Amino acid sequence: MAIVMSVNAGSSSLKFQVYEMPEEKVLAKGLVERIGLNDGVFSITVDGQKYTTTCDIPDHEAAVRMLVDALLEHHVVNSLDDIKAVGHRIVHGGEFYSDSVEASTDAVEKVEECIPLAPLHNPAGLVGYKSFSKLLPDASQTFVFDTAFHQTMPAENFIYPIPYEYYEEDKIRRYGFHGTSHKYLTQRYAEITGKKPEDVQIITCHLGNGGSITAVKDGKSFKTSMGLTPLAGIEMGTRSGDIDPAIPGVLMQRHNLTAQEVDNILNKKSGLLGVSGVSSDSRDIENAAKEGNERAKLASKIFDDRVIETVGGYYALMGGADAILFAGGIGENSITTREAIIDGLAALGVKLDHEANNCRGKEVKISADDSSMDVYVIPTDEEVMIARDAYKNLAAE
Ligand code: ADP
Repeated sequence: MAIVMSVNAGSSSLKFQVYEMPEEKVLAKGLVERIGLNDGVFSITVDGQKYTTTCDIPDHEAAVRMLVDALLEHHVVNSLDDIKAVGHRIVHGGEFYSDSVEASTDAVEKVEECIPLAPLHNPAGLVGYKSFSKLLPDASQTFVFDTAFHQTMPAENFIYPIPYEYYEEDKIRRYGFHGTSHKYLTQRYAEITGKKPEDVQIITCHLGNGGSITAVKDGKSFKTSMGLTPLAGIEMGTRSGDIDPAIPGVLMQRHNLTAQEVDNILNKKSGLLGVSGVSSDSRDIENAAKEGNERAKLASKIFDDRVIETVGGYYALMGGADAILFAGGIGENSITTREAIIDGLAALGVKLDHEANNCRGKEVKISADDSSMDVYVIPTDEEVMIARDAYKNLAAE
């Protein structure tokens, strides 16, 4: 038995979950927000009880210090030595990593090398790691990459049709993200159905604020909708997803914008928010659409259709699939979105059981008995995947 932490550090936030492994029992979880800004917020939940503190939290190291103090205060651990391993979510592992890795000096250098591919995310992950390794010098530390699961994609699915030297020299290619979630869904589907992982042919739809869809062939990522960056693919809360690649140039010229300003528009002001003008949150969009807001209806229709065309395209590309899986905030909770997507895929013979679909946040099969493919809602769990890999590395030490 060992206490293992799963950590997801952002530029001004840090999410954590504390597990007893290998039982995978959650002992505590929480979130530090507004790190480096005024009025930082620290919250921790232990035994169903949530405790929140508001104070200035100058940096990630201070955040980690608050967090370990809280674990001691709430008797989650008796001493810091009880925390045997920490797993860190790292967004980009480039072509270096197809699996999690012990956070060695070499691994830190490689994550640093990938910073140009994830300029906001990788530095945050490293700052989180460095803060933990300072305060828990004896704990085993593991990097778990969002990109790792997708390293199995064949070249035709990751090379962009642009001059090949940009791949060779600049490593411009499709990487894909949310890999930890797509991998969890793949494993969970294999468990539910009793299939061997190598026999799993599914399409996994992780639909949250950010969304991506993956074709899983023979249990491996075959193609995924995000690309060089998480901006690609389906329409998202504030991200455009795929658009005509000429649009950024046109916007730059017409409005005298810099590349960075266009990047900001496509990442932060587009998607559901940009089209609807209402909100990036799919619940607000659903409500506005119900009240007759035409642009909210349009944003929602674009979202559903992008998912439909991606799933349909992957179905053809992988030569059929046994199941479609829904996860993420929208995938797990939006009854109407799932209905619109599955109804839109009727040409593939897939059919919804409307009664079963009337659920939120639960693991359930929602396809009708005569559906050509099974459809499941599977609440994703990236945190437990990170804890599992951290525990695996600890056991291997
Ligand atoms: P992130 O990508 O930030 O992790 P989440 O997976 O939490 O995002 O998903 C956030 C999205 O899930 C939001 O668009 C939100 O509206 C949607 N969502 C959450 N709960 C519900 C619900 N009950 N009904 C419909 N949508 C929901």
